[in-house]
Amino acid sequence: MAKIVMKFGGTSVADLERMRIAASYIKEEVDKGNEVIVIVSAMAGETNKLVETVNSVSSFFDAREYDAVVSSGENVTSGILALILQDMDIPARSWQGWQVPITTSSTHSSARIMDICTQNVKAKFDEGLKVAVVAGFQGISEENRITTLGRGGSDLTAVAFAAKFDCERCDIFTDVDGVYTADPRIVFKARKLNRISYDEMLELASLGAKVLQTRSVQMAMAHQVPVYVRSSFTGKPGTLVCSEDEKMENRTISGIAHSRDEAKISIISVADRPGIAATIFGALSDHGIIVDMIVQNISESGRTDITFSCPLEQSALAEKALLEAKEKNLVNFHEILQDLEVCKISVVGIGMRSQSGVAAKMFSILADEGINIQIISTSEIKISVLVERKYMELAVQALHDKFELHTNRISSEQ
Ligand code: ASP
Ligand code: MG
Repeated sequence: MAKIVMKFGGTSVADLERMRIAASYIKEEVDKGNEVIVIVSAMAGETNKLVETVNSVSSFFDAREYDAVVSSGENVTSGILALILQDMDIPARSWQGWQVPITTSSTHSSARIMDICTQNVKAKFDEGLKVAVVAGFQGISEENRITTLGRGGSDLTAVAFAAKFDCERCDIFTDVDGVYTADPRIVFKARKLNRISYDEMLELASLGAKVLQTRSVQMAMAHQVPVYVRSSFTGKPGTLVCSEDEKMENRTISGIAHSRDEAKISIISVADRPGIAATIFGALSDHGIIVDMIVQNISESGRTDITFSCPLEQSALAEKALLEAKEKNLVNFHEILQDLEVCKISVVGIGMRSQSGVAAKMFSILADEGINIQIISTSEIKISVLVERKYMELAVQALHDKFELHTNRISSEQ
């Protein structure tokens, strides 16, 4: 008998009908003799509604109460799904995070999981329970307060349970068939990948592919949990996120990611001396700005320009942080220029580790389309460029086409 985790996202438990379909997938595993830990999200849209309600009461809210409210969507789903399973004569019961307990840090609204107690759940399985339905996204702090793990956090709950209970797999049921070579809404010929490595998935998730929460991929990688992303709508085979294997290594590029809403901010004429970058980026980080790409120009007569990108919604705050630092005489510069019409395009693939020329090819594909590159950043398995937003679709399509991601000729995937 194996233990497995099955996680159902918001759209997969959106209403009673969808929950019954989820229950039928669970039943299949129970019928095979497996013990199942089910992790549920709130019904689609519920968490957003709860967040809105909190925001409408006060904009400077007590984060502990935010968590108490926002975590509640999952409580409803876990109880209802347990009832549906019981109705199908499957021994099932629900657990809220504090009942397990899932202990977390006290960083409300983005808490980290410290530990998951296995004893209580295991004892129930020993007594004949077949399905433990656990509310995702929530836990309890040392101060005995309810916490949440950040938006999309039920993926993290699922992977953490799979790691802690030594599960054979962690199935993540969602509304897409798996991980694609590019967003199928932009690239008609985008292809579903059968397998993808943790490293690549981590890049794709943090670059804006919404299939899995980034932190859950980090945890899966750290604990080597195989994560199988699949659709509860089509039932088609999904994508397995797992350790690298030979087949994956044979392909150079696995996917093209894009992030539409980026901003480019240039600080013109700052002194080029030790400590300036530390001051600038320190001020930005104090304001919670998520800085992504950075370039510094060659300096002329002791002064230089520094350009960085950040999420579009943070651009005004970034400007404010820099102006404040200037007012306090921490840093001096001539002016700040903002370009709010940019996006980021990235090619990702572990094959890049062993193949040269990927950057050159990427840049020439963009050049052929007349697309100017504004900032470049790379990692071992990724090249990202910042370009004008109006070229986003064109850039993704051209790269997908010229890197021939629509065929699996190179990868000969199974
Ligand atoms: N319900 C939470 C959210 O919408 C957690 C999750 O679904 O993963 O962010
Ligand atoms: Mg989700």
